[in-house]
Amino acid sequence: MNALTFASVTDVPTIVAGASGLRGHLIEAAYLVAAIGFGLSLFWMNSAKSARRGVLAGELAFAIAIIATLAHPGITGRGWVLIIIALAIGTVIGIPLGLKVPMTAMPERIALSHAFGALAVGCVGVAHYFLEYRHMGKFEIAVIGLEILLGGLVFTGSLMAAGKLHEMLPQRPMVFRGQNYVNFALIGVGVVITFYLMFNPSHTWLVPVLAVLAMLIGVALIVPIGGADMPTVIALLNSYAGLSAAALGLVLNNKLLIVAGALDGTAGLILAIIMCRAMNRSFRNVMFGAFGAVDEVTTADGEVQGQVRSASTDEAAEIMKMARSVVIVPGYGMAVAQAQHKVRELADILEAEGVDVRYAIHPVAGRMPGHMNVLLAEANVPYDQLIDMDDINSDFPQVDVVLVLGANDVVNPAARHSKGSPIYGMPILNVDQAQCIMVVKRSMRSGFAGIENELFFNPKTLMVFGDAKKVVGDLALDVSGERDAVGL
Ligand code: NDP
Repeated sequence: MNALTFASVTDVPTIVAGASGLRGHLIEAAYLVAAIGFGLSLFWMNSAKSARRGVLAGELAFAIAIIATLAHPGITGRGWVLIIIALAIGTVIGIPLGLKVPMTAMPERIALSHAFGALAVGCVGVAHYFLEYRHMGKFEIAVIGLEILLGGLVFTGSLMAAGKLHEMLPQRPMVFRGQNYVNFALIGVGVVITFYLMFNPSHTWLVPVLAVLAMLIGVALIVPIGGADMPTVIALLNSYAGLSAAALGLVLNNKLLIVAGALDGTAGLILAIIMCRAMNRSFRNVMFGAFGAVDEVTTADGEVQGQVRSASTDEAAEIMKMARSVVIVPGYGMAVAQAQHKVRELADILEAEGVDVRYAIHPVAGRMPGHMNVLLAEANVPYDQLIDMDDINSDFPQVDVVLVLGANDVVNPAARHSKGSPIYGMPILNVDQAQCIMVVKRSMRSGFAGIENELFFNPKTLMVFGDAKKVVGDLALDVSGERDAVGL
């Protein structure tokens, strides 16, 4: 292919690598600035206070990288047309997605972004192979094989994760005996095909076979994952997506893609390992799933026996008014109900009555890391009131009232003792040790892991049924006495 006479979207990084003269140097310099921007972005996203700066740095770095790539003299005629069409399609889909997708659906949306990014990487790999296989060395073919495997795997794996998160697919692990052998065999076949292509590059028909196989592996690896392993697997898919982009950078000789992919790959991997440690999960289980899980995933709804006590909001408000300390435990239900502003109102009223109010944040509450922090920050809850699980767990015996707001799995004591449970071993918030536990949810339905919660049957627990926003709004009225004042 003559890079300077024909350029398509997929060729852009190749021709950028070949840019020469002053323009070439400027493009390389811009790439360096963009790479530094990506690094700073990750660094600033380390803390909630600097996270906005981190997002801005990432956006600027991307803008610089795109402009530098488009500045290449080799992009002409048909290349521009294709780029403009791609930009238009991306904009038409991206803007409504950005504006309309609610915060609760953000994890699925991110999984979809991973999926389509990985699909693009896989497609570029396949296209590049067909265009260039006559001139490629063994190393390049091996890297393309890896890229296609990772791209295909992340594409379907992320679609499966999005389906599970959106409750279109069962969230519980789907396992069968010998599943890991099947998975290893599929990965093995992928490696063998790549090796075969290294020595027989003209057998191009094997490339689509490799791509389809990679997509099958993605499905097979995610199907057996569920419950407390799900958050980590999303970080891991992110890491695979980064590695596949780095492989693409190697293939196309694009340094920025290598740097950005490596940053994404290692950051995702480190996040996955940290989450595994924090959540007491086995990294092997997250990578392959279903290790010895066939007999274990049997804990179904309806197994826990006992009586449930429910209370109205005015009864709950009376108890709250007498409390000296209240800890609010937000969960996915708070995000669904968008109750964070009402929660802040209730907290303000309680504080005005002299009650000490704090928020207990579980690392995987909600559907993405930091989900609760983001929502509560949106409602201007002071950062110092958000207490991490490890720091607040020993305080629960001294807490008068715990308000569990749309949280379920993260307060389920089964994680401590029920070996059959998909959340077994996951650290939880020890809310059952508090003096009084109030649980706000709409029904007795289970949470993400699909299991019964014995906390609801605890004699100290009061269920306050209803939508979290409505219930917290009513609690605020009852605690402040406003409802009595207007005779409601
Ligand atoms: P859960 O999913 O366990 O429970 C949420 C509860 O909220 C449900 O039981 C539901 O009960 C209730 N709820 C839903 N809508 C409303 C509403 N409008 N008003 C009041 N209640 C509502 O949430 P947790 O936050 O406790 O746990 C998170 C789970 O998600 C964990 O299993 C975690 O592993 C998993 N996960 C987390 C990710 C992350 O990165 N944070 C990513 C992927 C998965 P009801 O229907 O009765 O109202």
